Amino acid sequence: MPNRPHRLLVIEDDPGLRDVFRLALETAGYEVEVVEDGGAGLSAAFERQPDLVITDLLTPRMHGYEFIRRLRATPHGVRMPIIVVSGQAYATDQRRAIELGACGFLPKPFQRQQLLDIVKRSLSQVRVRFWGVRGSIAAPGPETIRYGGNTPCVTIERGQDLLILDSGTGLRKLGVCLQAEAKRTPQHIRMLITHTHWDHIQGFPFFVPAYVPGNRLDVYGPPSVEKPLEKVLRGQMDPAYFPVALGDMAAEIVVHEVREPEFDVGPFRVSAMYINHPGITMAFRIDIDGVVVTYATDTEPYRFLLADRNADPESELADYGGKRDGELARFAANADLYIADSQYSPEEYNMKRGWGHTCYTDAVELAMAAQARRLALFSHDPMHDDDMVDEKLRRCKELVASRGSDLVVHAAIEGQSIDIEPAATAASATATSAPKS
Ligand SMILES: [Zn+2]
Repeated sequence: MPNRPHRLLVIEDDPGLRDVFRLALETAGYEVEVVEDGGAGLSAAFERQPDLVITDLLTPRMHGYEFIRRLRATPHGVRMPIIVVSGQAYATDQRRAIELGACGFLPKPFQRQQLLDIVKRSLSQVRVRFWGVRGSIAAPGPETIRYGGNTPCVTIERGQDLLILDSGTGLRKLGVCLQAEAKRTPQHIRMLITHTHWDHIQGFPFFVPAYVPGNRLDVYGPPSVEKPLEKVLRGQMDPAYFPVALGDMAAEIVVHEVREPEFDVGPFRVSAMYINHPGITMAFRIDIDGVVVTYATDTEPYRFLLADRNADPESELADYGGKRDGELARFAANADLYIADSQYSPEEYNMKRGWGHTCYTDAVELAMAAQARRLALFSHDPMHDDDMVDEKLRRCKELVASRGSDLVVHAAIEGQSIDIEPAATAASATATSAPKS
């Protein structure tokens, strides 16, 4: 949490309401700037980088939707939380605001306490954001435009606190956004890397904050089979592959090899376990404010690798594999969000057994066994176009419904964020989508 008061920007054209906002929010300890229309709002958002924006929908000269769209299209506004306030409380308007990337909707007229509640909730919730969702290799193009083509990069955010999971090609845009937000303030950035296959590290050389003097970057991950983690990261920036060496990046970069099952990364409590994938790969379970996110990308169920899919479950190998898979289910137990490898269809898995990935119905089975609240199907196959990912999601939802489970399933979308309120505040999660650029 910042040591200063939260800075709020309010866009409201009604003079009476402007006073209401200012009085209610300043009395509650917030720093408040009020402007009249979206154009002034964009300038103020850029200049002062507020912690939260509250905008009316029907402001003069620029509609609230247009404001959100334009703010999201600039690097400094991609991560900025927005609450929409409107007398147009139609369900379609609320849905549209959330789809555009608002984190909350407050219908007019509202009570002072309702305003304070939604502001507090928006500032305290944990936000998981997907910057890259594609497995194996980046696959941009018209056929992957809706789900995105960048390779794994996810952030967990709580206020000013940020933890990066993996440094695939999605990391590039995150770096651009962080740099735009920071202006000239030094940043301390923390990153976990599950393993060093290309698709999980190729964004690293393009991470702008790593080039900024005064910044500090702490990287945590397992060593590879033969080399220290730092040597692997250095190796991909060898002059034969990249024009800048790791040592020439101007930020202070500290690489930590993960050897303990539990450790703290800033305010995030992290648990780590090895999972079944060629080489050395870890899954992470991250706890912040009681919100638990488990990230297990690039893994294959032991029981199907060791024994044939149709093998007698009582057989020695199937039994052993099942026990090992149970360890991952326990690792993900009761997660608010389980982000899971779901690269193949069941039909594809039969041909790609031993390639180190999971078929999506098995990801659902594990999430249900773990009693996770929400599952994000992740690491989409580069050969899967948007329609195929739609079909994956449809089949997974069908499986969940057939079991009578209340697991919420969705397919991870590049640019999408999922807001999770700490259990102490409430028990809900909202998915929002931000347009890709
Ligand atoms: Zn891998």
